[in-house]
Amino acid sequence: MGDKRKTGTGSQGGTLGEEIAENLAESDMGRDASGAAETGTRTKEEDSEAAGAGRENRSPAALGGTGFREEYEFPEALFGEVPASREEERCLRLIARLARGERLTEEEFFAVLSVRSRKTASLLFRTARRVREQFYGKRVFIRGLIEFTNYCRNDCYYCGIRRSNREADRYRLTQEEILSCCEEGFRLGFRTFVLQGGEDGGYGREKEAGREAARDRGKETGRETAAFYKSDLALAETVRAIKSRFPGCAVTLSAGERPREIYELWFDAGADRYLLRHETADEEHYRRLHPSRMSGSYRKECLKDLKEIGFQTGAGMMIGSPGQTERLLARDLIFLRELKPEMVGIGPFIPHHATPFAGERPGSLKLTLYVLGLVRLLLPKVLLPATTALGTIVPGGRELGLLCGANVVMPNLSPASVREKYLLYDNKLSTGREAAEGLMKLRRSVENIGYEIVAERGDWAGFPKRRDRPNGMRPLL
Ligand code: SAH
Repeated sequence: MGDKRKTGTGSQGGTLGEEIAENLAESDMGRDASGAAETGTRTKEEDSEAAGAGRENRSPAALGGTGFREEYEFPEALFGEVPASREEERCLRLIARLARGERLTEEEFFAVLSVRSRKTASLLFRTARRVREQFYGKRVFIRGLIEFTNYCRNDCYYCGIRRSNREADRYRLTQEEILSCCEEGFRLGFRTFVLQGGEDGGYGREKEAGREAARDRGKETGRETAAFYKSDLALAETVRAIKSRFPGCAVTLSAGERPREIYELWFDAGADRYLLRHETADEEHYRRLHPSRMSGSYRKECLKDLKEIGFQTGAGMMIGSPGQTERLLARDLIFLRELKPEMVGIGPFIPHHATPFAGERPGSLKLTLYVLGLVRLLLPKVLLPATTALGTIVPGGRELGLLCGANVVMPNLSPASVREKYLLYDNKLSTGREAAEGLMKLRRSVENIGYEIVAERGDWAGFPKRRDRPNGMRPLL
């Protein structure tokens, strides 16, 4: 099971390719291009070496594109050219079949994921863009991300706000603080607010009480259940307050696993969407990423509940999490096809220094882009964010994501004072184009690649309007 990846075969040719090469680890160019994968090959590459690189705003245009068309070819250009092979031919045929809405088998997804060449990437991304434009045109939806608490009872091995991380400086926002984030967001043109946090049983209460709840060990104790119930009611109250103050806006929650009744409570309070990444569809891999207290099957149950209740529901996974293989990713794609979530969150895994995965390698930029493209073809109407993690591993990463089929970005609306405390992984971006205040810059870099940020709710295409009509259809200034 040796690593059969070729190195140094990346014949870039064009000047754009050369420019890109300078901005990524050189050894990586072309590395994806050789039909790398065998079963068990880790989905990692050196390209994430760029993780430590400088973070100035460098849009694809700034990387040397001279015109719209050239920029358009940007993500494809990251992939090396390889001599034609039967595997590549097969992969091209499979991508075309996927684009026609045909069901691929796990084996076929595996084959597609295993050949990542200039030709296959080019077909994939071009088709993904076409599909995205068919449903959403050139519009990019923005979500204001409010990280409302970093207390968490869980101990996920990858996550920087895991319970055992004593270094984490815990905080939670009050309802008033959240509302003023929304106020600011609305002014900037946000029409969706995303409230994300750890599984905190102390929301709405004093700091000390929350600390206690966060310290609870083992299964949910009676005391913890009671604490959570109060906390869940308080969050419902906050949702209600946001919806009454901003009736035309959507509220998305991302607060982890809760009983169905609590999801219903939040839905009835007016929450429109819910993000809960499945993390991995494979039970054994799930156990590699989480302590035994958590289970992949319970998480999948939660996702089913959310869909049934009527939330626009988001699943998703990190790319390159420890133990992940192309084979497992193929299973994730099949899981997504079965669940049919309205949203899918996909970003590279990035290690956090104070977690058990501190020494693991980050996920690959190119594989992340590739999976984004595949998800767009698999679920044509999906709301697909170009994530903060993608922007963190390489400058301009989010713009690349948008050129591979993504149609959503989620700038940070949290108060500046807490941003550095919501550290899911090292070097997490929270300034510049990543921050809500940097919206003008983001807007420009999105325009550079031919898209347009709009001030709309940005619901899933075809989703029945539940209680709100979208307002604010005007583009941002
Ligand atoms: N408690 C909520 C929110 C979790 S944080 C929940 O359980 O859904 C949101 C997402 O960040 C996670 O689902 C995970 O996929 C991602 N994440 C966490 N740690 C990460 C890391 N080290 N690198 C990349 N993504 C990470």
